[in-house]
Amino acid sequence: MRLILVGPPGAGKGTQAAKLIERLHVPHLSTGDMLREAVKQGTELGRKAEGFMKAGGLVTDDLVIPIVVERLQQADCAQGFILDGFPRTRPQAEALAQALTSANVALDAVVVIEVPDELIVERITGRRQDPVTHTIYHTKFNPPPADVAARVVQRSDDTEEACRARLKKYHGETAPIIPFYDAQGLLRRVDGVGDPQDITQRTFQALGLA
Ligand code: AMP
Repeated sequence: MRLILVGPPGAGKGTQAAKLIERLHVPHLSTGDMLREAVKQGTELGRKAEGFMKAGGLVTDDLVIPIVVERLQQADCAQGFILDGFPRTRPQAEALAQALTSANVALDAVVVIEVPDELIVERITGRRQDPVTHTIYHTKFNPPPADVAARVVQRSDDTEEACRARLKKYHGETAPIIPFYDAQGLLRRVDGVGDPQDITQRTFQALGLA
């Protein structure tokens, strides 16, 4: 299956992508993860992307599009993939369409996880990650166990200021790609409020996997 997950930051795209991978056995392509890795490794891409990311802005299309196009050409994507966090702009959606057409393949669905802004700010600012196991916790909704609490870290773009900037980018630049996919009959809207397990159930149902 070839899927795209769209939604505001903190909508639960990563969480739902993990569930879909268990079921579909296709690679999870998260541009956020790829860019964070490039920053960590100190590559040229990472150095160029870091400032945009810290400020809650979008990394420019000329940097992001090639990494996805190259990744999609790798053998493990031949049977499908889950794109998480890409496309985020209309030019990215168009570049993806072109790459898929050249490869003679088509998307199966675009899942939009919908969550109101007020809830997003609460989710994002409380988000913490265990650097050892990479497990994601939340200070209020899913606090880390006592032996892990001291080592959890906050993403540098999970502050309230950066979160509000990311939401603004989402509404201004990413949400306009939704009608592009709706017009192609690919859109599946999922209510992203509630228990993550219920949201997984809704996502599977929307994709005919339940
Ligand atoms: P994410 O983990 O998906 O929330 O992405 C973290 C940050 O990486 C975003 O706030 C952007 O700065 C950058 N980023 C990730 N994906 C993209 C994309 N498709 N286009 C532009 N910037 C991106």
